[in-house]
Amino acid sequence: MAASCRAAVAAGVTEIAFTDHVDHEPSDPGCDYYRAEDYHRAIEAVRSEFGSDLTILAAAEVDFNEAIAAKVERFLSSQRYDFVIGSVHYAVGGEIIFPAYFNGRSLDDVFVPYFDQVKLAVETGWFDSIGHLDLPKRYAPASHREYDPLAYRDHLEPVFAALIERGVAFEINTSGLRQTPKTSMPGPAIVRWYVEAGGQLVTTGTDSHAAQTVGAGLPKTLDMLELCGIPSVAAFRGRVRRQVSIPQLRRGITS
Ligand SMILES: [Zn+2]
Repeated sequence: MAASCRAAVAAGVTEIAFTDHVDHEPSDPGCDYYRAEDYHRAIEAVRSEFGSDLTILAAAEVDFNEAIAAKVERFLSSQRYDFVIGSVHYAVGGEIIFPAYFNGRSLDDVFVPYFDQVKLAVETGWFDSIGHLDLPKRYAPASHREYDPLAYRDHLEPVFAALIERGVAFEINTSGLRQTPKTSMPGPAIVRWYVEAGGQLVTTGTDSHAAQTVGAGLPKTLDMLELCGIPSVAAFRGRVRRQVSIPQLRRGITS
């Protein structure tokens, strides 16, 4: 955490959320591993070291699908965070959406049930933002690279409607820019359709699993958001949302 905070300050990032994964899917090797007390102790330690230079949020990326919903609800009702991301990483049968999952499946077989689970995640009302909205594109093997979000617009519109009705944001996950899709998750087409549907709430995340990528892709993402008609990014304290304008965010960022 300390290395990531140093990297954030160096990149001109003024606020960082440590969204450790919380897994309840029985097939996940990290299932039930999460240690909340240790996490919050580690957050307090970096807050006392970096508190004057950086806002540090206590946060979590909580895996969701309908088969584990009861466990997720129990977990979230017992925890206090600034910010909670809800993400779908597994199909309902417990298979992780990694390249092998595409074997013997069409893109529709992967994306349609995935978006159904994302919509259910939004409808729970348990999450402030939805992680990597079109995640399967990151793991599509070479045989399945023809993903075009336009093919799923009919499945995305009900997701947008649920997001807007519930006041839930979704994340622009910049890791896609430095990985195979070479575009954020989601990319500009989906952001544009969401704006056309009346949506305005997004968060930005680098999905950094190491200090080297803290802040990566944010300037490009802020440009993309403005071009798509999003003037501000959602920020959270104690699960309460406020909007920070993109010009204000850009003033901090140096890279
Ligand atoms: Zn994730």
